Amino acid sequence: MAIPHMTPSEFRKRGREVIDWIADYMERIEGYPVLSTVKPGDIRAMLPEHPPTTGEEFDDVIADLDRIVMPGITHWQSPGFHAFFNANASGPAILGDLVSSGLGVQGMLWITSPACTELETHVMDWLVEMLDLPPAFLSSGAGGGVIQDSASSATLTAVIAAREAATLGTANRTGTAGGLIAYTSTQAHSSVEKGIRIAGIGIDNLRSIEVDAAFAMRPVALEKAIEKDLAAGRRPFFVCATVGSTSSTAIDPVREIGEICRRHGIWLHVDAALAGTAALLPEMRWIHDGVELADSYVFNPHKWMLTNFDCTAFFVADRTPLIGALSVLPEYLRNEASASGAVIDYRDWQIPLGRRFRALKLWFVIRHYGVGGLQAFVREHLRLTKLFASWVDADDDFELAAPAPVNLVCFRHSGGDDVNQRILEQVNQSGEIYLNHTKLDAKLTIRMSIGQTHTEERHVRKAWELIRKASA
Ligand SMILES: *Cc1c(COP(=O)(O)O)cnc(C)c1O
Repeated sequence: MAIPHMTPSEFRKRGREVIDWIADYMERIEGYPVLSTVKPGDIRAMLPEHPPTTGEEFDDVIADLDRIVMPGITHWQSPGFHAFFNANASGPAILGDLVSSGLGVQGMLWITSPACTELETHVMDWLVEMLDLPPAFLSSGAGGGVIQDSASSATLTAVIAAREAATLGTANRTGTAGGLIAYTSTQAHSSVEKGIRIAGIGIDNLRSIEVDAAFAMRPVALEKAIEKDLAAGRRPFFVCATVGSTSSTAIDPVREIGEICRRHGIWLHVDAALAGTAALLPEMRWIHDGVELADSYVFNPHKWMLTNFDCTAFFVADRTPLIGALSVLPEYLRNEASASGAVIDYRDWQIPLGRRFRALKLWFVIRHYGVGGLQAFVREHLRLTKLFASWVDADDDFELAAPAPVNLVCFRHSGGDDVNQRILEQVNQSGEIYLNHTKLDAKLTIRMSIGQTHTEERHVRKAWELIRKASA
């Protein structure tokens, strides 16, 4: 049987159709209900039980996108999407990803596509400059940056590098001898616990440090916990501070935490997955006060920096323990460039071996928007967040449940959990917006994230009107 490859000319034609399909979607996005209304199993029920034996018409595939896939889409790119944290898409990022797909590069080693590695190193250095991060994260020194698939992977990688540093490499050979203790706050992202589990540290050895009234880690409580563990002969090795917690964007006092870590020789990892992007603005750089004391740092351009998922920026101040922990060199990966030590092989900076050419989309985004364009984008969302928070604050029926230092407003109706639950269900059923909840001080709290690519003041006003109406 002839193999039915898509010829370049057919690809050109179909490619244009697909780009048109995406552009139509962008134009119509506000017409879709933000939250998909399908029931479990609805999408699968529309799919044939068996795969096709012979290839099908591409027209039919596209038609099924509209018929089968679209009803099951929750529209993350709708300006009415205010749940979780946003996951921005943008034209230049989509096109950068498309080029990455077209090149089909697997960039595990420098030699497997020098541009994949060098462009990545370069845009990571650009990010250090753009966010005014510590110079130790630049590739020109002992540290450097790498693009990973998620903040979760980056935090796991940090735990493993910290384990390497704390055990002088013995953990790689013999496993941890036990006694290693990690610390984070009660408000840390679930990926910290996951990383601790996967790295074999054991969650009994992860301490959840209490927080203050603004949900930020209490450094005094951290130091007490460390001293208690030391007194018991255990080995504190890893602290994760959060800049912009997922529940409420609380900002841990990184400087005080970092000084404690320095005193005790403990690895400090800073998780700024969402909030890091805010440091594009000089007036927001206070969120990073003390980050120069960190051994590793992560933020997600795929949340609020217009770069399609997946794109996580992970930095270390010293790459030696990272590479020591993750480099395994079988014969088939040996090559002259790697042996010379003159190149970076990013396979040694991450969990998997293989890697996509993700730097392209980030490069497209930074060049298309410019630093000034990205700053204007973030600044507008911060303005809208303050505006929304002021409406909540001025309303007798509602209260702010936490400070809103970045682009998330946590609030609740004074009527209690049931009322807030009803408000959430009603506004989400409207199809116009999508919000989710958290619990703060054991009370149901509504989260309003303002960070979608096309969210403007009119969308935020509309959301508040819907919330007010649902509370009546
Ligand atoms: C979103 C988030 C994460 C997880 O990000 P992924 O890239 O999805 O793994 C981790 N930490 C914080 C603070 C987050 O907001």
